[in-house]
Amino acid sequence: MVKGDNINDIIDHKLFSEDDIHEMCVRLGKQLTEDYAGKKPLVVGALKGAIYFLTDLTRQMDVAHQLDFLDVSSYGDGFESTGKIKVVTDLAADVKDRDVLIVEDIVDTGLTLKFMKDLIKGRGAKSVKCCAMLNKEARRNVDVDVDYYGSKVGNEFVVGYGLDFLNMYRNIPYVGVLKPEVIQKYVN
Ligand code: 5GP
Repeated sequence: MVKGDNINDIIDHKLFSEDDIHEMCVRLGKQLTEDYAGKKPLVVGALKGAIYFLTDLTRQMDVAHQLDFLDVSSYGDGFESTGKIKVVTDLAADVKDRDVLIVEDIVDTGLTLKFMKDLIKGRGAKSVKCCAMLNKEARRNVDVDVDYYGSKVGNEFVVGYGLDFLNMYRNIPYVGVLKPEVIQKYVN
């Protein structure tokens, strides 16, 4: 692991195992296959956190689709949304008249997702939906639909399977909760 830390040293407990995540991908992939049949959607991965989920989810989708990526910045210090969102790396594709499916790692306040949905709708997409691995529903402070999600999650800071802490720990193969001392080490 980065900076000499290994998984056992930094994870307090596991929340979603590799099997749990695989089951989410199978269930969501089946639903998306039905809902997008014949539509050839543009699947947009929200960088960087969604890439692990995106690769497993899309391999469960039996529907022809194209891929693109969008990187918007939302977090200032690793924990709290700054509320100021900007495009860091834009889409390559023209979304006009496309059915767009945004794939997210986690939706928290909803600010990032609302920004992405508004941006894509504003460019004339036919439909814009989101499939997130995790949904922190109780933390929502804007009105935005998470159309598909793997599981709800409480108000805990989770890492792994794409989710980072200070851009580290994305490669942990499951989703877990960081030990408080790891957070303290970097915050103080
Ligand atoms: P929102 O704009 O919905 O508040 O924030 C969405 C983004 O915040 C996610 O794409 C993710 O990068 C980050 N985020 C929110 N909650 C967590 C969490 O528990 N763990 C990690 N690693 N990132 C989170």
